[in-house]
Amino acid sequence: AYPVYGRIDGPIVIIGFGSIGKGTWPLIERHFDYDADKLTIIEPDPGQHNFLRQHRLNFVDTALTPENYREVLGRLLEPGKGFCVNLSVDVSSLDLIRFCRELGVPYIDTVVEPWAGYYFNTTDNAARTNYALRQAVRDEKAAHPGGSTAISCCGANPGMVSWFVKEALLTLARDTGRDATPPADRAGWARLMQGLGVQGIHIAERDTQARRVPRPRGVFVNTWSVEGFIAEGFQPAELGWGTHEPWFPENGHRHDTGCQAAIWLERPGAITRVHTWCPTPGPQFGFLVTHNEAISISDYYTVGSGDAPAYRPTCHYAYHPCDDAVLSLHEMFGSGRAQDKHHILAEDEIVEGIDELGVLLYGHEKNALWYGSRLSNEAARDLAPYQNATGLQVTSAVLAGMVWALENPGAGIVEADEMDHARCLEVQRPYLGPVEAHYTDWTPLQDRWELFPEDIDPEEPWAFRNVLAS
Ligand code: NAD
Repeated sequence: AYPVYGRIDGPIVIIGFGSIGKGTWPLIERHFDYDADKLTIIEPDPGQHNFLRQHRLNFVDTALTPENYREVLGRLLEPGKGFCVNLSVDVSSLDLIRFCRELGVPYIDTVVEPWAGYYFNTTDNAARTNYALRQAVRDEKAAHPGGSTAISCCGANPGMVSWFVKEALLTLARDTGRDATPPADRAGWARLMQGLGVQGIHIAERDTQARRVPRPRGVFVNTWSVEGFIAEGFQPAELGWGTHEPWFPENGHRHDTGCQAAIWLERPGAITRVHTWCPTPGPQFGFLVTHNEAISISDYYTVGSGDAPAYRPTCHYAYHPCDDAVLSLHEMFGSGRAQDKHHILAEDEIVEGIDELGVLLYGHEKNALWYGSRLSNEAARDLAPYQNATGLQVTSAVLAGMVWALENPGAGIVEADEMDHARCLEVQRPYLGPVEAHYTDWTPLQDRWELFPEDIDPEEPWAFRNVLAS
């Protein structure tokens, strides 16, 4: 029997029934007590409607817009109860957070998403950063502290990886003979990371999921939202910028306002390669695609003031998506146009592979520690329906976030770093396959192509200058 974590009284609204919405629904059904006729899905894509009808799920086929969202959601939600679960693209997270908090309805999403058009119609690259999107949510939190719980960015990454950072820190503390009692507050966690000498963190991911047929030319293939991946891949590369960095990238920019934890590069993330490491491949290239957690983690673990910190870790995504997605990116950037045809690999067509998603804490006395989930598609299929391994790492984090929100109703606007990581992982862990810690001696100075001179810093192995591939 599956644990039922609580009762949700009143309407549950799921916005978006794509790869993540469709996988989250069975987990909500399994782990919460609620009135089935009070669950409604907002999904404009007719391609999903037959499934919704077959499963007797209430749905609304209206795409949310800045003009209609208050009216459409206002009709479905009831003040002070229920849950709003936003798993769509092109719907403003900030506007929904504001509206749900006005109503007192618990809210969760997996990304700070803007309204349609924002990613491609804005010419100012600084405004297209995740820093700007996240800062707007942080400013809302600062202006309106406390109140009804709204969880921002609670998927796998952003989301679960913030909980992994904490587990990894406790593992490292234990393995280096230090006190491994979980700190009680943010400042304590930041001092723990500083004391351990962690210079930075890669969100180090290798997706080896593959199907039998080769990728057809002209189709963008991925294991989760193609639209979401193209949008973030075209945003500037961004990273939390640590205090140990001895060099500043020529195409790098700081921000004038906000938390100051991150910088951005004058280059799309999906063609910015970094040297990184995961257990299965060992050393590999990852793409420095911008992600909310790169900023939130660097911000959370800052010691001292934002503009002149005593300590801050560097943090960024280092993503090797599934091989078909790598080829899709190559084709897209080479041709200068995004493919019209999109395909998300379904759990039944994938014949092999895992999504290996973890955090690589580097620069400390044990060099580097990777801590993460190595979930195979095969295992995912046995654990829950309608999703591949990538999906299940995300949807189980949404489940954990919803449980935490029910248990912490007046927590205000929070990010994963600010939640109880042990409770969240307790809920999520049954869905993550093997969760493992791996130490490695590898540094970005190793395994390079030595016949060609490179602009590297031999004194500081983990400097971003060495991580960034030329
Ligand atoms: P998807 O592309 O498969 O599905 C998105 C769905 O949103 C589609 O079904 C689409 O019809 C619907 N939609 C589009 N415009 C809408 C609108 N205006 N109103 C309502 N619905 C609309 O994407 P997915 O893989 O399910 O991902 C969903 C979201 O989750 C994306 O924003 C993605 O970036 C995010 N995500 C986060 C993580 C994480 O780990 N944090 C991982 C994967 C996906």
